[in-house]
Amino acid sequence: MKRPKIEGFKSPCVLICGAGPTGLTLACELVRRGVEVRIIDELPKPTTQSRALAVQPRTLEIFERMGVLDSFLEKGLKVTQINLYHHARKEFELKFDVIESAFPFLLSIPQADTEKILIHHLELLGCHVERGVRVLSIQKGCAFLHHPDGNEELFSPKWIVGCDGAHSQVRHNLNFSFKGIKLPELFALADLTLEGPLIHSEGHFFFENEGVFAFVPLTESNTFRMILPLKEQISPEQLTQDFFSNFLQKRAPYLHVKKTSWTSLFSIHRRIAPSFRKKNVFLAGDAAHIHSPAGGQGMNTGIQDAYNLAWKLALVHQGRGHHILLKSYNQERYPIAQKVLFFTTIITRFVTSSPPFVKKSFLFFMKKFKSASREKKLISAVADLSIQYKSSILYQPIWDLFWKAPKLGERAPDMQIARSGNQLFSYFHEEEHTLLTFGPISAELKQILCGYKISVFHSGDEEEILRRYHAEPTSVFLIRPDGYIGYRSSALKKDHLLRYLKKIFTNSGSGHAHGQGLGHV
Ligand SMILES: Cc1cc2nc3c(=O)[nH]c(=O)nc-3n(C[C@H](O)[C@H](O)[C@H](O)COP(=O)(O)OP(=O)(O)OC[C@H]3O[C@@H](n4cnc5c(N)ncnc54)[C@H](O)[C@@H]3O)c2cc1C
Repeated sequence: MKRPKIEGFKSPCVLICGAGPTGLTLACELVRRGVEVRIIDELPKPTTQSRALAVQPRTLEIFERMGVLDSFLEKGLKVTQINLYHHARKEFELKFDVIESAFPFLLSIPQADTEKILIHHLELLGCHVERGVRVLSIQKGCAFLHHPDGNEELFSPKWIVGCDGAHSQVRHNLNFSFKGIKLPELFALADLTLEGPLIHSEGHFFFENEGVFAFVPLTESNTFRMILPLKEQISPEQLTQDFFSNFLQKRAPYLHVKKTSWTSLFSIHRRIAPSFRKKNVFLAGDAAHIHSPAGGQGMNTGIQDAYNLAWKLALVHQGRGHHILLKSYNQERYPIAQKVLFFTTIITRFVTSSPPFVKKSFLFFMKKFKSASREKKLISAVADLSIQYKSSILYQPIWDLFWKAPKLGERAPDMQIARSGNQLFSYFHEEEHTLLTFGPISAELKQILCGYKISVFHSGDEEEILRRYHAEPTSVFLIRPDGYIGYRSSALKKDHLLRYLKKIFTNSGSGHAHGQGLGHV
């Protein structure tokens, strides 16, 4: 078929290729900010595979701000701790209740349900996924689309985001490599209903001399996803109920398989694109990076890519933000993806190929040097709460370099506020920047903010917040719409803050700062 010519007209629209968890999150967040979006997917129907199970606390915080949290909590199962066993004895446990989040647990929910909830939310916002529509190629920032009736369309959007998974056509058309390796390890996955002493709301990891195997709970009672590294190649047909029953009879005879509902063979690639952006085309989620599912980071990293990009793209698209915001997407998310690739590979190598004495030593050290702060650090990292961005849109006065307060690029600490009983996060605006202040709002501050759409939250003299933020009455923190600290200053300096605002925002003169507070605004 002859393809239509690329013409000059650009639709004022963002084209999202792929409606997996990454593309759906991005679409929801752009649409609610008033950006016109087209989201397409080559599949005629959403996936029914359970695939990624674990939703991390940081992603739950994001879902709360998106307004979909209740649906997730209704469908999912709260996993409150992870147990490590050696020779069938519990040696160590990691509890999620040590983390500083309103959601001190992992939520186990099949990926198909995650997608269903996001699709429903997107439809409520008035946007529908165009099904059966495939990206054939991207040229000069335009997309050739193939429709289910056989027609081809040339679409010329302002921005394109490739959320089209590991085999991304968008990435391919950018001539981007997908550098990395296929790890030699092969995993058997199975959703099993078990009879035995495993507590259903907890994860269980068995470090045995012969190898490691794990159970992550699924929502149905006594049902777990078993993850089993394999020492030799087998075919998918060999993954029968008998296969898992025989394995457990030898290695954990106190567990009996009652039902097998899904099995899969899973091999792991560790790959990353050279950049997550080229001109008006962005990559996010599996299209940009893939890695081992160890630690349950894959889907969460994709959702967090989308959440990072959405507010920046919306501000620039609407002419309210400078292009430096878009530059920061790659600056911020690329190193995070690299870290996820590194650590998930180490964990995978450790559980699959390390000799028994290494595993034993690991458990020994975990037990011997057990400390509340170390445990908190480890769990916070798994929960994606210790991410710290570094980019050109983060700013602080030089004299605050050593200020002990929460750092630039870190997620603003959340806590329950004694006076109101609400979480601090609930006072931060979901779509705009929020200026967190501690003393009375001066006329000077009002003048600085004039013309910018910034919400002001005045925490008053609430001690817990002052303590956690190491704040003085004149300190300020600018919290970005994604909840990270974009600007901080131990004492308000008008010119400095103004310089920052000018770097990020275009001042239309029509904006407004509006405030709320525990004290007086
Ligand atoms: C068996 C299995 C088990 C897994 N287990 C885990 C786990 O336990 N934990 C974890 O974190 N991760 C796990 N993962 C990985 C996780 O599923 C992915 O990280 C996650 O789906 C990434 O989301 P995404 O939206 O970026 O990409 P995807 O979910 O792959 O979505 C991409 C979408 O793009 C569409 N698409 C592709 N090409 C085109 C095209 N040319 N045109 C239009 N549309 C297109 C696809 O149809 C798809 O809907 C697992 C994956 C598999 C396969």
